[in-house]
Amino acid sequence: MPSFAANPLLLENIARVRAEVAEAAVRSGRRADEVTIVAATKYVDANITRQVAAAGLLDLGESRPQEIWSKGPELTDLPIRWHLIGHLQRNKVRRTLPFVALFHSIDSLRLLEELQTEAEKLGQVVAILLEVNISGDEAKHGFAPAEMPSVIETAAQFSHLQIRGLMSMAGLDTDAVTAQQQFAAVRQLRDQLAPNAPANVSLADLSMGMSGDFREAIAEGATMVRIGSSFFEGLF
Ligand SMILES: *Cc1c(COP(=O)(O)O)cnc(C)c1O
Repeated sequence: MPSFAANPLLLENIARVRAEVAEAAVRSGRRADEVTIVAATKYVDANITRQVAAAGLLDLGESRPQEIWSKGPELTDLPIRWHLIGHLQRNKVRRTLPFVALFHSIDSLRLLEELQTEAEKLGQVVAILLEVNISGDEAKHGFAPAEMPSVIETAAQFSHLQIRGLMSMAGLDTDAVTAQQQFAAVRQLRDQLAPNAPANVSLADLSMGMSGDFREAIAEGATMVRIGSSFFEGLF
């Protein structure tokens, strides 16, 4: 049986990160509850994941769908909203769809098509964010900013997809100043796209910022931050 006594250090980390996120939100003129923390639980097993959710962080992100397949059924007693935050292969769409509240990292038209096909079969509407490769790094997934108007046009025509916003990551090895510039560029892109977007498309959500750069992301309008390692510092 898993242990249900929460790790005190984990609880301390959670309290600290929540306070830092709240402080960053207030500094950017927003309320703390306008920024959703998606706790990236890819580093920990189902037992620690349970402790994170039990502490009130019910938005949980995994970068590999297999982790959601295995943890999801173990944690059904908690009202967890699973977020897929990593690259999704098309052959994993069908099995992943039933578990996931929001797909953050939709990065190709072929993936959009597959999501539409499978969502229609299930009679489910799928909430997605479109990933933008803002840094231009070859190693990063995501659409190029210049492709976004046509991607949005196409995605808006899929009856079972609901676009909620954009997701992005700062480039590899960027310092805080560069990361903040990249997050600002994502927000500016959103602000350009939104007035021309079809009525069934929302670009309200911006998923950006991780342990190392969530303050910069929140300063530039992130509504969701995906934080992992800061919660688990000192645990292993
Ligand atoms: C792991 C991961 C995160 C969290 O990163 P940390 O630096 O551990 O906070 C955020 N986003 C994605 C896509 C990830 O894979």
